[in-house]
Amino acid sequence: MTMKKMTPQEVLDKYWTRGILPIDPEKIARKADIKIGNLPFEEVNVSGWYLPTGNHGQPKILVSRFEPERRIRFTVAHELGHHFLQHGERPRDSTKEFNIYNFDPIETEANNFAADLLMPAEYVSALIKGLGITSVKTLCEKFDVSGVAMEIRLKKLGYI
Ligand SMILES: [Zn+2]
Repeated sequence: MTMKKMTPQEVLDKYWTRGILPIDPEKIARKADIKIGNLPFEEVNVSGWYLPTGNHGQPKILVSRFEPERRIRFTVAHELGHHFLQHGERPRDSTKEFNIYNFDPIETEANNFAADLLMPAEYVSALIKGLGITSVKTLCEKFDVSGVAMEIRLKKLGYI
């Protein structure tokens, strides 16, 4: 089976009900026929794992449930990045994979994908410019992301 690479915007256009925040990456996975499973308890220091043919040929994302909810959401979005950018089989993602100082270009690409997916530029702009929301905490609540993820996003988009 061949699949075309998809940008975060294309994924949102296809699998997201436009305007519904926060964006649920697990719902996107289910709609895209990607199986979501839990990492076993003993997998310490592992946040997520993407297996292109993990579930009898069906793509599978395994995620640790022992992390904060917002972190789990970002992990799933990151693993979706590996899927839609066609990175293929990847090693398990440990916590260091999500560090902004990680210079592995594939991991950086997956992190950027996750940020674009969970915090679309158009909607960040709509809340800040359209609704006049300037509180980072409120923006974190609207997009259901961590303060660190939101601040990186706001810097990248030139708001701070
Ligand atoms: Zn990764």
